[in-house]
Amino acid sequence: MAAKRDYYEVLGVSKTSSVDEIKKQYRKLALKFHPDRNQSTDASEHFKEISEAYGVLSDPEKRKVYDQHGHAGVDGRYSNDDIFQGARGDFSDLFGGGGFDSIFESIFGRGGGFSSRQQRGSDILFETSITLEDVLHGKKMEIDLQKEIKCHICNGSGCKPGTNKKTCSSCNGQGQVRKSRSMGFASFVTVEPCSACRGQGSIIETPCSECKGKTKTKGTKKISFDIPPGVDSGDYTVPNEGNEIPGGVNGDLIVRIRVQPHPQFKRDGMDIFYDQNVSMVDAALGREIIVPTLDGTEKIKVESGSQPNTIIKLKGKGVPHLNSRGRGDQYVRIVVNIPKKLNKHQKNILDEFQKSLE
Ligand SMILES: [Zn+2]
Ligand SMILES: [Zn+2]
Repeated sequence: MAAKRDYYEVLGVSKTSSVDEIKKQYRKLALKFHPDRNQSTDASEHFKEISEAYGVLSDPEKRKVYDQHGHAGVDGRYSNDDIFQGARGDFSDLFGGGGFDSIFESIFGRGGGFSSRQQRGSDILFETSITLEDVLHGKKMEIDLQKEIKCHICNGSGCKPGTNKKTCSSCNGQGQVRKSRSMGFASFVTVEPCSACRGQGSIIETPCSECKGKTKTKGTKKISFDIPPGVDSGDYTVPNEGNEIPGGVNGDLIVRIRVQPHPQFKRDGMDIFYDQNVSMVDAALGREIIVPTLDGTEKIKVESGSQPNTIIKLKGKGVPHLNSRGRGDQYVRIVVNIPKKLNKHQKNILDEFQKSLE
């Protein structure tokens, strides 16, 4: 286990902060890390940490002990209950409807089971690679997705059709049991998930033969979604198409898109880069040429006297903006080719040309 962090650091306040400032800061963090609002797995740990820091720093006497003797001083003098009472008392209205009390009970119950929180199916990752042309037009996808789906035989109840669940007698259907623990002088009530029914409040007596009482089965579902024009490599979410969980909310489908490298074009954000080879003579004399674009081709004019690496911009010939109008541009770089082999006749002509310059 990691060493306890400094209480001031935990709350993001300074040693000279007033109680009001500390209170304000705690309120902000508590709303952020409340496990009912924050899905991350360490939210309840964070919540516990900030509540403990608040309990000490908001009380002048405890704060003084902490300033002088650190964590050891506080731990030696005060019980957990004493410390957490600070946040519990000051912010009992913060989440309304006793929400604050239940969160403290949840935190101190072993296993941290938040039985009242709705369960969520897990996400599914689907990987696909698309071309730059797909990026231009977008792509309709239709896939057969293997996932956990609600059992269609028992409709997600887990019971053999015609039978019902029985109320758990250990917890009287509550799904949780209250236990009283004493800590020093104070006794502390904790709420733990019922072990007999694993927090469900009911027990399946005759399991469904299809899902064996698990309420869900592996299945295949046809799913269609659109990859919008303008996407880049990365993860995109199709909400609710992940694994199902009866009585809870579905997970999401995460589509991991990889845009394949293009043989001719290089992409940078919404812009496209293309190298066009031009002969030394064409660069000197000027010429109209045809260049490829994502849409087809475009005629461009290489001006006479064009220098190597001249850039010609084709406005609006790049990649579409994602979720908005307009497109990026295409940049054509003029690469001037110097002939590597010349016959005698060609050499003479170039010599003549050179002499004409003198
Ligand atoms: Zn039970
Ligand atoms: Zn079933």
